[in-house]
Amino acid sequence: MRIQANYSLKQYNTFKIDIKAKYFVEIEKQSDIVVLRSDLQLSSLPWIIIGGASNLLFNTDLEKVVVTCRFKKIKIVKEDDDNVWISVGAGLGWHELVEYSIENNLWGLENLAYIPGTVGAAPVQNIGAYGAEARDVITRVQTLNLFTGEREVFRNSDCQFDYRSSIFKTDYKNKLLVHRVTFHLKKGHAGKANLYYSQLKEALTKYKKQELTPKIIFDTVIELRKKKLPDVKKYGNAGSFFKNPIISADYFKKFANKFSDAPYHKTINGEYKIPAAWLIESTGWKGKRFNKNTGVSQLHALVLVNYGDATGKEINQLANQIQEDVDHKFGIHLEREVICI
Ligand SMILES: Cc1cc2nc3c(=O)[nH]c(=O)nc-3n(C[C@H](O)[C@H](O)[C@H](O)COP(=O)(O)OP(=O)(O)OC[C@H]3O[C@@H](n4cnc5c(N)ncnc54)[C@H](O)[C@@H]3O)c2cc1C
Repeated sequence: MRIQANYSLKQYNTFKIDIKAKYFVEIEKQSDIVVLRSDLQLSSLPWIIIGGASNLLFNTDLEKVVVTCRFKKIKIVKEDDDNVWISVGAGLGWHELVEYSIENNLWGLENLAYIPGTVGAAPVQNIGAYGAEARDVITRVQTLNLFTGEREVFRNSDCQFDYRSSIFKTDYKNKLLVHRVTFHLKKGHAGKANLYYSQLKEALTKYKKQELTPKIIFDTVIELRKKKLPDVKKYGNAGSFFKNPIISADYFKKFANKFSDAPYHKTINGEYKIPAAWLIESTGWKGKRFNKNTGVSQLHALVLVNYGDATGKEINQLANQIQEDVDHKFGIHLEREVICI
């Protein structure tokens, strides 16, 4: 276990916001939590969990204990002719896990390539991209109670997975630390490509004469993502800042009358999902600077960017302004996907 006081999190968050944590703690084993809790100073402060802080926006210095998990091992827990179950430490980088699956010619994670962050956050966020979600392949989530250090195991059906959400983000937020996640993957000959997402299917037409492999999908997803998203190493950002709003059928009628060119997707509940990127682009924000340090990416209207030494407050002001403009023009409220702390 490592404990550091007044620790700068600038290198630990993809927005590259320069704030300090009162204490930054890296957990390496279950007993670390009990040891930490026996310290009165640490125990009297609020605790929060971070992984790669790629979905967080820090506003001010944190008078808190910031906890992160350093378990990184991959273990094969079960295997048969067609399937493999692997248990993975929460501290491993998500993309490293996807690379491991591709090196071993396993199906299941290829559509989720190149998403920043850690394995531990994948069930918390129920990460998703290109027609796949983490919940499709997660069988078990093992957690440690941040107050007692006790272990608990959740089956997939216990996790309350939802759009970019789960029980770990709601009821157990900052209470349970995910420390291992088990994934069920298919061996090369036993699985097949998930081509649900039309843009991915189109991009794969050049392989028409070839049998698709996890590696082909992986490479294609990375190619698509690189075209659409600013490089997080160059420009601080946290991916999609807002969720796609869902509106009622009644409101959709009025909306579609006025904005007949708006793209939409009808949900199974009879409501309508409108792409937030389209709403933001239509208010003229795509590629626009807000001030010297912040703006909206030219590549993707959903991505807010730190172009220099932006503070969390500046990014927040930009987000508020976009929410206000979208609300004013369309009467639709954009909800944030990024968690502001
Ligand atoms: C360029 C870019 C592209 C992105 N693209 C996508 C995308 O395509 N799809 C997508 O779904 N997301 C995307 N994201 C968002 C982000 O990568 C994911 O939400 C990711 O899962 C966050 O992982 P993290 O480790 O950085 O978590 P953090 O941002 O550190 O934390 C996110 C939440 O998870 C909690 N948490 C983290 N680790 C644990 C743990 N071990 N135990 C309990 N709680 C924990 C935190 O408390 C917090 O509530 C993108 C982000 C960026 C910067």
